[in-house]
Amino acid sequence: MSSANSDSDHHLNQLLKLKEFQPSGRGTWADVAEADWEDWRWQLKNRVSSLEGLQSRIPDLTPQEIEGARLADTKLAMAITPHFFNLIDGNDPDCPIRRQMLPSVQETETAPWEMGDPCGEDSHSPVPGLVHRYPDRVLFLVTDRCAAYCRYCTRSRLVSNALGYDFRPNFKEQIEYIRRTPAVRDVLLSGGDALLLSDSKLRQLLTELRSIPHVEFIRIGSRIPIFLPQRITPELCAVLKEFHPLFISVHANHPRELTTEVRDGLARLADAGIPLGNQSVLLKGVNDDAVVMKALVQKLLMCRVRPLYIYQCDLINGSAHLRTSVRRGLEIMEQLRGHTTGYAVPQYVIDAPGGGGKVPVNPNYVLSHNADRVVIRNFEGKVFEYPEAPDGTPLHSPPDTIEEPELV
Ligand SMILES: *Cc1c(COP(=O)(O)O)cnc(C)c1O
Ligand code: SF4
Repeated sequence: MSSANSDSDHHLNQLLKLKEFQPSGRGTWADVAEADWEDWRWQLKNRVSSLEGLQSRIPDLTPQEIEGARLADTKLAMAITPHFFNLIDGNDPDCPIRRQMLPSVQETETAPWEMGDPCGEDSHSPVPGLVHRYPDRVLFLVTDRCAAYCRYCTRSRLVSNALGYDFRPNFKEQIEYIRRTPAVRDVLLSGGDALLLSDSKLRQLLTELRSIPHVEFIRIGSRIPIFLPQRITPELCAVLKEFHPLFISVHANHPRELTTEVRDGLARLADAGIPLGNQSVLLKGVNDDAVVMKALVQKLLMCRVRPLYIYQCDLINGSAHLRTSVRRGLEIMEQLRGHTTGYAVPQYVIDAPGGGGKVPVNPNYVLSHNADRVVIRNFEGKVFEYPEAPDGTPLHSPPDTIEEPELV
């Protein structure tokens, strides 16, 4: 067997292994009654949120994690649902789930270019809890609480309220703004996590939004299907289904997050007719690897979720240890486009620091664009020409042949 072949066998085996659906299991909660475990409120009540809780479940915490957990309540609270906690490998300090969820003392290291509000949301906020950056859509912050907290959260200035932001959304004011702003045709509910609201609160809010004639499109950005699949009850799905067209964007970063329970919850949402998308954050030691990312996007498709965005990690204070380079992100995108299903390929974006919004960043496939032709390369690096006249119309006579440009 040639070495190229054994390389690709190795690659394929790694990919298949990452894509296996596993249950989260009970871990250290083996004695808990089934009905409790399946109850999302039980899961929330029993989150791991203290150093003692961590130590009793992971004996070998690193000194950075111990110090990080001590400091968490002064930065971004620590909270991990039992379901999600069980995905952590307690024997591996580099576990990709652990890196996302366990505070590290490195969070206290901030660089001058890091910010508390890296996407400039507060400066684009016409009323508290509403961010109106793009002409036709608004971000509607519903709550400052999440089912669990991600250490790299771009909204950690308010999420979990560890920094005393004292976020008190006034739904009435937020809805009034949308009502008097006819350009807003798209409302994105986020926070925090809107699916933490009770079914009836959520129905109320969605009813209000749907009563506005110019609101065409509603979506919910939520990590709850991943952190707390127990929340995706048939009753919740029945509520959401009343407000179509309603989309949900979930947030998964590593294929291991897509457990059998998560897959089943996503299936309930998809069966309720809710189109599902995913947003990932590119994170060092979590998913800054082409095989991991490919496994993630392919596994998402198996759950009927369309990968939508990969975000370059925002310049949130204390996130340097989780960030990876844009060059790395571009390399990963190169390994996706053409190499796997088009539906599986998300758009890589940088949320422009200071408030410019999402900017797409792409590997360069256009080698040159001259008066009579566009020279392009494909995913394998092969070069092609697309002839066109200077005014953009198709050419009627063939252009002169040119020398093939060097591969890049
Ligand atoms: C991401 C985002 C949106 C939604 O943008 P899409 O490109 O439609 O996904 C809207 N408002 C704000 C402030 C956002 O950050
Ligand atoms: S779920 Fe979203 S809002 Fe909540 S902590 Fe994670 S990144 Fe932040």
